[in-house]
Amino acid sequence: MVQAYRPTTDEVIAFYDHAVPMINRLVGDNVHLGYWTSPEDPSSVQQATDRLTDMMVGRLGAGPGATVLDLGCGLGAPAVRLARAADVRVTGVATSSVLIGKAQEAARTAGVSDRVGFQVADALSLPFEDSSFDAVLAIESIVHMTDLPRVFGEVSRVLKPGGRIVLTIFFQKEPLQGHAAQVVEAYRRLSLNGELLLPEDFPPLLRTAGLHQVEFLDITRQTMRHHREMIANVEKQRFELEELYGTEMVHTFVSVFEDCLAIDEPGYLLLTAERARETAGPV
Ligand code: SAH
Repeated sequence: MVQAYRPTTDEVIAFYDHAVPMINRLVGDNVHLGYWTSPEDPSSVQQATDRLTDMMVGRLGAGPGATVLDLGCGLGAPAVRLARAADVRVTGVATSSVLIGKAQEAARTAGVSDRVGFQVADALSLPFEDSSFDAVLAIESIVHMTDLPRVFGEVSRVLKPGGRIVLTIFFQKEPLQGHAAQVVEAYRRLSLNGELLLPEDFPPLLRTAGLHQVEFLDITRQTMRHHREMIANVEKQRFELEELYGTEMVHTFVSVFEDCLAIDEPGYLLLTAERARETAGPV
């Protein structure tokens, strides 16, 4: 599959600086796909997106007093939810200062600002000491990053030995051809996503960074409903969205999401990896 498109850091910043009204209208405060347990699952978008957050938090292995980095924290909802569920300290980072402002507001409103802080920072060069976090949560944020060896290198550097990263990312279940490749390329452009990896690409990428894959969970089937819910939400407020983002943008949005639903692509992956524990030196 030829994947010509690569978003730049500045494009991703500009996208999120302007996306808050759209995010709030279409999905609420979680900027990630939801997890529906079955086609009959009656969960709302809020419930399904919170469920995915909880599934990821459960995999972090972050006990009382742990420090967690929320890499690409969005509007701060997952970090606040994590801090409410466990006695941990959370540092959220994102490249968009608009999102960071909103996330700080969310922590204040929830009364958890003493344990949850947010700052502007780039995953490519994190402003933290080596081994400063017990766990890293990266919900649908690495999707925007194009230099993955460097990102995982930074994650591994700031993680303590034995610490985990739990992330979600789009991927290609198998090499895409023809129409499917075109649909996914259009989706990547619309959502500013980097190139999609194949399942076998992850273990070596992680290994090079000093991480090893603990779990590879393909949750495409459980998350696809999100696209349908978004299309329905667009239809409910098409006029307001067209005023904000233009007729053409809204049209493209709906048609790209419909195309993705028709072919069940791109794939969506929940991945857990662990930084190697310190091995004993020679005796
Ligand atoms: N994890 C959040 C937000 C996901 S949206 C949630 O689930 O609600 C993607 C997030 O990744 C945004 O906050 C965006 O600012 C952030 N992001 C994108 N590129 C980044 C980079 N290079 N470094 C840090 N954050 C980045």
